[in-house]
Amino acid sequence: MTFDTLGLSADLVQIVAEEGYTEPTPVQAAAIPHVLAGHDVLAAAQTGTGKTAAFVLPILDRLRKHANTSFSPARHPVRVLILVPTRELAMQVDESVQTYGRSVPLRPAVVYGGIPIEPQIKELRGGVEILVATPGRLLDHVGQKTVNLSQVEILVLDEADRMLDMGFLPDIRRIIELLPAKRQNLMFSATFSDDIRRLSGSILNHPEVVEVAARNTAAESVRQLVYPVDRDRKEALLAHLIAKEDWRQVLVFTRTKIGATRLATYLDRRGLEAVAIHSDRSQPERTRALESFKTGAIRVLVATDVAARGLDIEDLPHVVNFELPWQAQDYIHRIGRTGRAGATGDAVSLVSIDETDLLRGVQRLLKKAIPWTVEEGFVPDRNAEPQPLRGGAPEGRPARGHHYAHRSDTRSRSRTAPRS
Ligand code: AMP
Repeated sequence: MTFDTLGLSADLVQIVAEEGYTEPTPVQAAAIPHVLAGHDVLAAAQTGTGKTAAFVLPILDRLRKHANTSFSPARHPVRVLILVPTRELAMQVDESVQTYGRSVPLRPAVVYGGIPIEPQIKELRGGVEILVATPGRLLDHVGQKTVNLSQVEILVLDEADRMLDMGFLPDIRRIIELLPAKRQNLMFSATFSDDIRRLSGSILNHPEVVEVAARNTAAESVRQLVYPVDRDRKEALLAHLIAKEDWRQVLVFTRTKIGATRLATYLDRRGLEAVAIHSDRSQPERTRALESFKTGAIRVLVATDVAARGLDIEDLPHVVNFELPWQAQDYIHRIGRTGRAGATGDAVSLVSIDETDLLRGVQRLLKKAIPWTVEEGFVPDRNAEPQPLRGGAPEGRPARGHHYAHRSDTRSRSRTAPRS
Protein backbone atom coordinates (compact mmCIF):
# COMPACT_ATOMS: atom_id res chain seq x y z
CA MET A 1 0.00 0.00 0.00
CA THR A 2 1.32 3.44 -0.92
CA PHE A 3 0.05 6.96 -0.39
CA ASP A 4 -0.73 7.56 -4.04
CA THR A 5 -3.42 4.86 -4.06
CA LEU A 6 -5.50 6.75 -1.50
CA GLY A 7 -6.72 9.52 -3.77
CA LEU A 8 -4.67 12.34 -2.28
CA SER A 9 -3.37 15.00 -4.61
CA ALA A 10 0.17 14.70 -5.92
CA ASP A 11 1.61 17.57 -3.89
CA LEU A 12 0.39 16.05 -0.62
CA VAL A 13 1.82 12.66 -1.59
CA GLN A 14 5.07 14.50 -2.26
CA ILE A 15 5.02 16.20 1.16
CA VAL A 16 4.33 12.91 2.89
CA ALA A 17 7.34 11.44 1.10
CA GLU A 18 9.44 14.43 2.17
CA GLU A 19 8.37 13.74 5.74
CA GLY A 20 9.85 10.28 5.30
CA TYR A 21 6.65 8.23 5.38
CA THR A 22 6.84 5.39 2.94
CA GLU A 23 3.45 3.82 3.52
CA PRO A 24 0.20 4.84 5.16
CA THR A 25 -0.54 3.54 8.63
CA PRO A 26 -3.68 1.35 8.94
CA VAL A 27 -5.86 4.21 10.16
CA GLN A 28 -4.63 6.41 7.33
CA ALA A 29 -5.26 3.72 4.71
CA ALA A 30 -8.76 3.14 6.05
CA ALA A 31 -9.88 6.69 6.82
CA ILE A 32 -8.38 8.89 4.09
CA PRO A 33 -10.57 7.63 1.20
CA HIS A 34 -13.73 8.10 3.29
CA VAL A 35 -12.79 11.62 4.32
CA LEU A 36 -11.95 12.50 0.71
CA ALA A 37 -15.36 11.18 -0.34
CA GLY A 38 -17.00 13.58 2.10
CA HIS A 39 -18.36 10.93 4.47
CA ASP A 40 -18.64 11.19 8.22
CA VAL A 41 -16.09 8.97 9.94
CA LEU A 42 -15.86 7.42 13.38
CA ALA A 43 -12.35 6.10 13.89
CA ALA A 44 -10.80 4.21 16.74
CA ALA A 45 -7.25 5.42 16.89
CA GLN A 46 -4.95 6.58 19.60
CA THR A 47 -1.90 8.78 19.60
CA GLY A 48 0.91 7.11 17.74
CA THR A 49 -1.23 5.52 15.05
CA GLY A 50 -0.78 8.38 12.60
CA LYS A 51 -4.34 9.55 13.15
CA THR A 52 -3.51 13.25 12.76
CA ALA A 53 -2.34 12.82 9.19
CA ALA A 54 -5.37 10.56 8.62
CA PHE A 55 -7.64 13.58 8.92
CA VAL A 56 -5.36 16.52 8.12
CA LEU A 57 -4.22 15.26 4.70
CA PRO A 58 -7.67 14.59 3.19
CA ILE A 59 -9.07 17.76 4.80
CA LEU A 60 -6.41 19.80 3.02
CA ASP A 61 -7.51 18.30 -0.28
CA ARG A 62 -11.19 18.92 0.44
CA LEU A 63 -10.49 22.52 1.33
CA ARG A 64 -8.12 23.21 -1.49
CA LYS A 65 -10.87 24.71 -3.66
CA HIS A 66 -11.13 27.57 -1.16
CA ALA A 67 -7.43 28.35 -1.08
CA ASN A 68 -6.71 31.95 -1.90
CA THR A 69 -4.18 34.60 -1.11
CA SER A 70 -6.59 37.50 -0.64
CA PHE A 71 -5.80 39.95 2.16
CA SER A 72 -9.48 40.26 3.02
CA PRO A 73 -10.40 38.38 6.23
CA ALA A 74 -13.84 37.78 4.76
CA ARG A 75 -12.23 35.53 2.17
CA HIS A 76 -10.81 33.35 4.96
CA PRO A 77 -13.71 32.15 7.12
CA VAL A 78 -13.25 29.19 9.47
CA ARG A 79 -14.09 26.16 7.35
CA VAL A 80 -12.58 23.42 9.45
CA LEU A 81 -12.83 23.22 13.21
CA ILE A 82 -10.64 20.67 14.98
CA LEU A 83 -11.52 20.27 18.66
CA VAL A 84 -8.91 18.69 20.91
CA PRO A 85 -8.82 18.09 24.68
CA THR A 86 -5.44 19.56 25.64
CA ARG A 87 -3.10 22.39 24.79
CA GLU A 88 -0.30 20.00 23.94
CA LEU A 89 -2.43 18.15 21.46
CA ALA A 90 -3.64 21.47 20.05
CA MET A 91 -0.05 22.53 19.43
CA GLN A 92 0.82 19.21 17.84
CA VAL A 93 -2.19 19.12 15.54
CA ASP A 94 -1.49 22.72 14.53
CA GLU A 95 2.08 21.76 13.74
CA SER A 96 0.84 18.88 11.58
CA VAL A 97 -1.55 21.19 9.73
CA GLN A 98 1.34 23.54 9.01
CA THR A 99 3.66 20.74 7.97
CA TYR A 100 1.29 18.88 5.66
CA GLY A 101 -0.35 22.06 4.44
CA ARG A 102 2.80 23.87 3.42
CA SER A 103 1.90 23.73 -0.28
CA VAL A 104 -1.73 24.77 0.14
CA PRO A 105 -2.46 28.47 0.75
CA LEU A 106 -4.93 27.98 3.59
CA ARG A 107 -4.49 29.70 6.93
CA PRO A 108 -4.28 27.59 10.05
CA ALA A 109 -4.51 28.87 13.60
CA VAL A 110 -4.60 27.36 17.04
CA VAL A 111 -6.33 28.62 20.19
CA TYR A 112 -6.02 27.15 23.67
CA GLY A 113 -6.19 28.39 27.21
CA GLY A 114 -3.44 29.20 29.67
CA ILE A 115 -1.91 31.95 27.56
CA PRO A 116 -3.09 35.50 26.81
CA ILE A 117 -6.08 35.69 24.49
CA GLU A 118 -5.10 38.92 22.71
CA PRO A 119 -2.61 37.49 20.19
CA GLN A 120 -5.15 34.79 19.32
CA ILE A 121 -7.82 37.42 18.74
CA LYS A 122 -5.50 39.27 16.41
CA GLU A 123 -4.79 36.15 14.43
CA LEU A 124 -8.47 35.19 14.19
CA ARG A 125 -9.35 38.68 12.99
CA GLY A 126 -7.03 38.28 10.04
CA GLY A 127 -9.03 35.30 8.80
CA VAL A 128 -8.35 31.62 9.38
CA GLU A 129 -9.57 28.58 7.45
CA ILE A 130 -8.40 25.76 9.70
CA LEU A 131 -8.88 26.32 13.41
CA VAL A 132 -7.50 23.94 16.02
CA ALA A 133 -9.00 24.64 19.44
CA THR A 134 -9.58 23.41 22.94
CA PRO A 135 -13.29 23.76 23.78
CA GLY A 136 -13.00 26.19 26.70
CA ARG A 137 -10.86 28.78 24.98
CA LEU A 138 -12.89 28.50 21.81
CA LEU A 139 -16.02 29.39 23.80
CA ASP A 140 -14.15 32.35 25.28
CA HIS A 141 -13.60 33.56 21.74
CA VAL A 142 -17.23 32.89 20.87
CA GLY A 143 -18.24 34.96 23.91
CA GLN A 144 -16.02 37.81 22.78
CA LYS A 145 -17.33 37.47 19.23
CA THR A 146 -13.82 37.06 17.91
CA VAL A 147 -14.64 33.92 15.99
CA ASN A 148 -17.48 33.07 13.64
CA LEU A 149 -18.27 29.40 13.12
CA SER A 150 -21.20 29.78 10.74
CA GLN A 151 -19.23 28.62 7.70
CA VAL A 152 -17.64 25.52 9.14
CA GLU A 153 -17.78 22.66 6.63
CA ILE A 154 -15.84 20.03 8.54
CA LEU A 155 -15.82 19.33 12.27
CA VAL A 156 -13.15 17.08 13.77
CA LEU A 157 -13.37 15.78 17.33
CA ASP A 158 -9.91 14.48 18.13
CA GLU A 159 -9.43 12.24 21.17
CA ALA A 160 -13.15 12.45 21.77
CA ASP A 161 -13.02 9.96 24.64
CA ARG A 162 -10.57 12.17 26.47
CA MET A 163 -12.72 15.22 25.89
CA LEU A 164 -15.61 13.38 27.53
CA ASP A 165 -13.36 12.27 30.41
CA MET A 166 -12.37 15.88 30.94
CA GLY A 167 -15.99 17.02 31.11
CA PHE A 168 -16.07 18.88 27.81
CA LEU A 169 -19.38 17.40 26.66
CA PRO A 170 -21.49 20.51 27.48
CA ASP A 171 -18.91 22.74 25.78
CA ILE A 172 -18.87 20.50 22.71
CA ARG A 173 -22.64 20.63 22.51
CA ARG A 174 -22.65 24.41 22.76
CA ILE A 175 -20.05 24.67 20.03
CA ILE A 176 -21.94 22.31 17.73
CA GLU A 177 -25.02 24.48 18.02
CA LEU A 178 -23.03 27.28 16.41
CA LEU A 179 -22.12 25.21 13.35
CA PRO A 180 -24.14 24.82 10.16
CA ALA A 181 -26.28 21.68 10.32
CA LYS A 182 -24.92 20.46 7.01
CA ARG A 183 -21.28 19.59 7.48
CA GLN A 184 -18.86 16.69 7.49
CA ASN A 185 -18.02 15.20 10.90
CA LEU A 186 -14.96 13.20 11.83
CA MET A 187 -14.54 11.70 15.25
CA PHE A 188 -11.39 10.05 16.55
CA SER A 189 -11.31 8.21 19.81
CA ALA A 190 -8.92 5.75 21.42
CA THR A 191 -11.84 3.68 22.64
CA PHE A 192 -15.38 2.98 21.54
CA SER A 193 -17.08 3.22 24.92
CA ASP A 194 -20.86 3.48 25.31
CA ASP A 195 -20.47 7.22 25.86
CA ILE A 196 -18.54 7.56 22.64
CA ARG A 197 -21.14 5.58 20.72
CA ARG A 198 -23.87 7.81 22.16
CA LEU A 199 -21.98 10.96 21.24
CA SER A 200 -21.27 9.72 17.74
CA GLY A 201 -24.93 8.73 17.37
CA SER A 202 -25.95 12.30 18.08
CA ILE A 203 -23.29 14.04 16.01
CA LEU A 204 -22.28 11.83 13.12
CA ASN A 205 -24.42 11.16 10.10
CA HIS A 206 -24.22 7.54 8.87
CA PRO A 207 -20.53 7.41 9.67
CA GLU A 208 -18.02 5.07 8.12
CA VAL A 209 -16.53 3.22 11.06
CA VAL A 210 -12.79 2.68 10.98
CA GLU A 211 -11.41 0.29 13.51
CA VAL A 212 -7.81 -0.70 13.25
CA ALA A 213 -6.02 -2.92 15.70
CA ALA A 214 -4.91 -0.67 18.51
CA ARG A 215 -1.23 -0.52 17.78
CA ASN A 216 -0.26 -0.39 21.38
CA THR A 217 -2.20 -3.36 22.67
CA ALA A 218 -0.48 -5.55 20.14
CA ALA A 219 2.93 -3.93 20.39
CA GLU A 220 5.14 -6.93 20.85
CA SER A 221 8.07 -4.58 21.05
CA VAL A 222 7.06 -3.27 24.49
CA ARG A 223 8.45 -5.31 27.34
CA GLN A 224 6.24 -5.00 30.35
CA LEU A 225 7.31 -5.68 33.88
CA VAL A 226 5.77 -5.27 37.32
CA TYR A 227 7.81 -4.52 40.42
CA PRO A 228 5.82 -5.26 43.55
CA VAL A 229 6.91 -2.77 46.19
CA ASP A 230 5.66 -1.12 49.32
CA ARG A 231 4.03 2.22 48.63
CA ASP A 232 6.47 4.16 50.79
CA ARG A 233 9.47 2.65 48.99
CA LYS A 234 8.38 3.53 45.49
CA GLU A 235 10.40 6.75 45.20
CA ALA A 236 13.53 5.00 46.36
CA LEU A 237 12.97 2.04 44.04
CA LEU A 238 12.48 4.31 41.06
CA ALA A 239 15.64 6.31 41.82
CA HIS A 240 17.49 3.02 42.27
CA LEU A 241 16.25 1.56 38.97
CA ILE A 242 17.04 4.70 36.98
CA ALA A 243 20.57 4.76 38.32
CA LYS A 244 21.19 1.01 38.19
CA GLU A 245 19.81 0.50 34.70
CA ASP A 246 21.22 3.84 33.54
CA TRP A 247 17.90 4.96 32.04
CA ARG A 248 18.46 8.21 30.20
CA GLN A 249 15.02 9.23 29.03
CA VAL A 250 12.21 8.13 31.27
CA LEU A 251 8.58 9.17 31.22
CA VAL A 252 7.00 8.51 34.62
CA PHE A 253 3.26 8.56 35.23
CA THR A 254 1.61 9.55 38.48
CA ARG A 255 -2.08 9.86 39.20
CA THR A 256 -2.04 13.29 40.74
CA LYS A 257 -0.47 16.66 40.10
CA ILE A 258 0.90 16.85 43.61
CA GLY A 259 2.30 13.36 43.27
CA ALA A 260 4.04 14.39 40.05
CA THR A 261 5.58 17.46 41.65
CA ARG A 262 6.73 15.60 44.74
CA LEU A 263 8.31 12.80 42.77
CA ALA A 264 10.12 15.16 40.41
CA THR A 265 11.52 17.06 43.40
CA TYR A 266 12.61 13.80 45.05
CA LEU A 267 14.45 12.60 41.95
CA ASP A 268 15.96 15.97 41.20
CA ARG A 269 17.39 16.22 44.70
CA ARG A 270 19.11 12.90 44.11
CA GLY A 271 20.84 14.13 41.01
CA LEU A 272 18.40 12.64 38.51
CA GLU A 273 17.27 15.68 36.52
CA ALA A 274 13.49 15.59 36.62
CA VAL A 275 10.61 17.92 35.84
CA ALA A 276 6.89 17.50 36.48
CA ILE A 277 4.41 18.40 33.78
CA HIS A 278 0.76 18.84 34.68
CA SER A 279 -2.18 21.12 34.09
CA ASP A 280 -1.21 23.63 36.78
CA ARG A 281 2.03 24.42 35.03
CA SER A 282 1.90 27.40 32.69
CA GLN A 283 2.04 26.74 28.99
CA PRO A 284 5.59 28.08 28.54
CA GLU A 285 6.71 25.92 31.48
CA ARG A 286 5.21 22.83 29.94
CA THR A 287 6.66 23.54 26.53
CA ARG A 288 10.08 24.17 28.04
CA ALA A 289 9.95 20.96 30.07
CA LEU A 290 8.98 18.94 27.02
CA GLU A 291 11.76 20.46 24.94
CA SER A 292 14.41 19.79 27.58
CA PHE A 293 13.19 16.23 27.82
CA LYS A 294 13.33 15.74 24.08
CA THR A 295 16.85 17.11 23.88
CA GLY A 296 18.00 15.01 26.81
CA ALA A 297 18.74 17.91 29.17
CA ILE A 298 16.16 16.43 31.51
CA ARG A 299 16.36 12.76 32.27
CA VAL A 300 12.97 12.17 33.83
CA LEU A 301 9.65 13.70 32.86
CA VAL A 302 6.96 13.07 35.47
CA ALA A 303 3.47 13.49 34.09
CA THR A 304 -0.17 12.97 34.91
CA ASP A 305 -2.33 11.20 32.33
CA VAL A 306 -4.06 14.40 31.35
CA ALA A 307 -0.82 16.28 30.80
CA ALA A 308 0.74 13.43 28.84
CA ARG A 309 -2.21 12.80 26.64
CA GLY A 310 -1.43 13.54 23.05
CA LEU A 311 2.21 14.44 23.68
CA ASP A 312 4.07 13.46 20.59
CA ILE A 313 7.13 11.99 22.21
CA GLU A 314 8.10 9.05 20.13
CA ASP A 315 10.21 6.02 20.65
CA LEU A 316 10.75 6.49 24.34
CA PRO A 317 12.93 3.73 25.69
CA HIS A 318 11.38 3.72 29.17
CA VAL A 319 7.93 4.37 30.54
CA VAL A 320 7.27 3.92 34.24
CA ASN A 321 3.91 3.64 35.95
CA PHE A 322 4.75 5.05 39.34
CA GLU A 323 1.13 4.34 40.13
CA LEU A 324 -1.26 2.34 38.02
CA PRO A 325 -3.98 4.47 36.45
CA TRP A 326 -7.56 4.29 37.69
CA GLN A 327 -8.70 3.41 34.20
CA ALA A 328 -7.11 0.29 32.75
CA GLN A 329 -7.34 1.84 29.28
CA ASP A 330 -4.96 4.59 30.38
CA TYR A 331 -2.32 1.92 30.97
CA ILE A 332 -2.45 1.19 27.25
CA HIS A 333 -2.14 4.90 26.42
CA ARG A 334 0.79 5.23 28.77
CA ILE A 335 2.81 2.30 27.54
CA GLY A 336 2.05 3.30 23.96
CA ARG A 337 4.78 5.90 24.48
CA THR A 338 7.41 3.27 24.09
CA GLY A 339 8.16 0.63 21.52
CA ARG A 340 6.74 2.69 18.68
CA ALA A 341 7.70 2.27 15.09
CA GLY A 342 9.48 -1.00 15.62
CA ALA A 343 11.74 0.30 18.39
CA THR A 344 11.77 -1.67 21.60
CA GLY A 345 10.90 -0.19 24.95
CA ASP A 346 10.34 -1.06 28.54
CA ALA A 347 7.15 -0.34 30.41
CA VAL A 348 7.70 -0.79 34.12
CA SER A 349 4.98 -0.61 36.77
CA LEU A 350 5.66 -0.11 40.47
CA VAL A 351 2.72 -1.81 42.11
CA SER A 352 1.83 -1.64 45.79
CA ILE A 353 -0.64 -3.86 47.57
CA ASP A 354 -3.46 -1.34 47.32
CA GLU A 355 -3.16 -1.47 43.54
CA THR A 356 -3.77 -5.19 43.18
CA ASP A 357 -7.26 -4.69 41.80
CA LEU A 358 -6.02 -2.11 39.32
CA LEU A 359 -3.35 -4.54 38.15
CA ARG A 360 -6.02 -7.18 37.68
CA GLY A 361 -8.05 -4.76 35.59
CA VAL A 362 -5.05 -4.00 33.38
CA GLN A 363 -4.26 -7.67 32.91
CA ARG A 364 -7.85 -8.44 32.07
CA LEU A 365 -7.76 -5.74 29.41
CA LEU A 366 -4.47 -7.03 28.03
CA LYS A 367 -5.79 -10.57 28.27
CA LYS A 368 -2.48 -11.62 29.70
CA ALA A 369 -0.46 -11.48 32.88
CA ILE A 370 2.42 -9.05 33.11
CA PRO A 371 5.68 -10.65 34.25
CA TRP A 372 6.93 -9.41 37.59
CA THR A 373 10.18 -9.22 39.39
CA VAL A 374 11.26 -8.33 42.89
CA GLU A 375 14.16 -5.93 43.15
CA GLU A 376 16.76 -6.76 45.72
CA GLY A 377 16.43 -4.53 48.73
CA PHE A 378 12.84 -3.63 47.85
CA VAL A 379 11.03 -6.80 48.76
CA PRO A 380 7.58 -5.75 49.89
CA ASP A 381 6.23 -6.50 53.31
CA ARG A 382 5.16 -10.10 53.11
CA ASN A 383 1.81 -9.41 54.66
CA ALA A 384 1.09 -6.99 51.91
CA GLU A 385 1.77 -9.01 48.80
CA PRO A 386 -0.26 -8.31 45.71
CA GLN A 387 -1.29 -11.37 43.76
CA PRO A 388 -0.54 -11.10 40.08
CA LEU A 389 -2.65 -13.23 37.80
CA ARG A 390 -1.34 -16.45 36.42
CA GLY A 391 -0.65 -16.36 32.68
CA GLY A 392 -3.48 -15.72 30.24
CA ALA A 393 -5.98 -14.24 32.62
CA PRO A 394 -9.48 -15.02 31.40
CA GLU A 395 -11.91 -12.19 30.69
CA GLY A 396 -14.17 -13.15 33.55
CA ARG A 397 -12.80 -14.33 36.83
CA PRO A 398 -9.09 -13.82 37.33
CA ALA A 399 -6.94 -16.68 38.51
CA ARG A 400 -5.80 -16.24 42.06
CA GLY A 401 -3.29 -17.46 44.54
CA HIS A 402 -0.10 -17.00 42.61
CA HIS A 403 2.30 -15.50 45.09
CA TYR A 404 5.34 -14.00 43.56
CA ALA A 405 8.17 -14.29 45.99
CA HIS A 406 9.06 -15.30 49.45
CA ARG A 407 10.56 -12.85 51.75
CA SER A 408 13.77 -14.79 51.92
CA ASP A 409 14.12 -14.58 48.17
CA THR A 410 15.89 -11.29 47.92
CA ARG A 411 17.83 -11.94 44.75
CA SER A 412 17.10 -9.50 42.01
CA ARG A 413 15.39 -11.45 39.30
CA SER A 414 14.99 -8.69 36.82
CA ARG A 415 17.36 -10.33 34.39
CA THR A 416 15.67 -13.68 34.38
CA ALA A 417 12.04 -12.71 34.65
CA PRO A 418 9.98 -14.10 31.80
CA ARG A 419 9.02 -11.40 29.37
CA SER A 420 6.15 -11.53 27.05
P1 AMP B 1 -0.25 10.65 15.59
O1 AMP B 1 -0.90 9.32 15.86
O2 AMP B 1 -1.03 11.46 14.63
O3 AMP B 1 0.04 11.37 16.87
O4 AMP B 1 1.14 10.37 14.86
C1 AMP B 1 2.18 9.74 15.51
C2 AMP B 1 3.51 9.93 14.76
O5 AMP B 1 3.53 9.12 13.59
C3 AMP B 1 3.76 11.35 14.30
O6 AMP B 1 5.00 11.75 14.83
C4 AMP B 1 3.83 11.29 12.80
O7 AMP B 1 4.85 12.12 12.34
C5 AMP B 1 4.12 9.85 12.52
N1 AMP B 1 3.48 9.35 11.28
C6 AMP B 1 2.30 9.73 10.77
N2 AMP B 1 2.02 9.04 9.64
C7 AMP B 1 3.05 8.20 9.43
C8 AMP B 1 3.35 7.22 8.42
N3 AMP B 1 2.52 6.96 7.41
N4 AMP B 1 4.51 6.55 8.53
C9 AMP B 1 5.36 6.78 9.55
N5 AMP B 1 5.14 7.70 10.53
C10 AMP B 1 4.00 8.39 10.48
